[in-house]
Amino acid sequence: MTLRLGVPNKGRLNERTIELLVKSGIDLGEDIGRRLYLKAKNQDIEVIFVRAQDVPVFIAEGAIDMGITGIDETAESGRDLIKILDLQFGYCHLAVAVPEASGITDASQIADGSRIATSFPNLTRKYFEGMGKNVQIITVTGACEIMPYMGVSDYITDLVSTGSTLKTNRLREVGNIIESQAVVITSKAAMEKNGQAIQDVVDSFQSVIIAEDKKYLMADIPKDKLEIVEKIIPGIGGPTVLEIAGNSEYLAVHAVIDGKDVFKTINELKRIGAKGILTTPIERLVN
Ligand code: AMP
Repeated sequence: MTLRLGVPNKGRLNERTIELLVKSGIDLGEDIGRRLYLKAKNQDIEVIFVRAQDVPVFIAEGAIDMGITGIDETAESGRDLIKILDLQFGYCHLAVAVPEASGITDASQIADGSRIATSFPNLTRKYFEGMGKNVQIITVTGACEIMPYMGVSDYITDLVSTGSTLKTNRLREVGNIIESQAVVITSKAAMEKNGQAIQDVVDSFQSVIIAEDKKYLMADIPKDKLEIVEKIIPGIGGPTVLEIAGNSEYLAVHAVIDGKDVFKTINELKRIGAKGILTTPIERLVN
């Protein structure tokens, strides 16, 4: 059965999502970006390009089986969906922000009846209800940060990544509604219908994400240093050790190591007399 996968057609999540699909071996051909719909060349997968905001709704309505969107949009939709994988990008949080001149330093100081502009009306309403506050929600589709200065609202809730947009607009963050990042989501109904295909795509994404943090390391080491080397590079279940034809003094060792350990490991190997040390990127790592 054809798997229908929804991906963001623009915005912050678009570029990395496409990269993840391509690295996962889902061949989208040449003209990605200009199409609303693509059939993968090498798998029974249809990729549908939609707004990140619409992904949860389309899954809940059964129009697509799975999709990539943010935790924020998923929670805002209020739909009963299943998160299957954190994708470790698109990090942000939905913040409550006030003009610096307001003197407010915490969301608890916001008065009943205040007007809050937001693109996340449901999450914002729930947040203030949870605080026992009765605020007026004004739904806008973007550019929340200018709403207080335009007189549209008193305060806002908006996504914050680096915080520079708030700063530029002289807004102060006074509350955090939800932490977000890009995720893969699906529904119970889609899992029952197409569970294996969904899991295959998720496993594929995961193998790419894991591999991006790792390097494949190769080095020729003096034979009598093998025990020390096994401590320096434990690898996944220990390094692979190979004889080198015509060289009785050295052994070749291969191992997968964390990218953050490359600098230290190479220096340690050099110190025990290793030669021909090289590292290469890994495309996929399946355990
Ligand atoms: P920043 O200045 O880095 O804090 O980014 C804030 C602006 O980028 C706001 O207009 C947000 O709506 C938008 N933004 C930040 N992170 C995300 C995200 N993960 N997904 C969508 N929009 C985002």
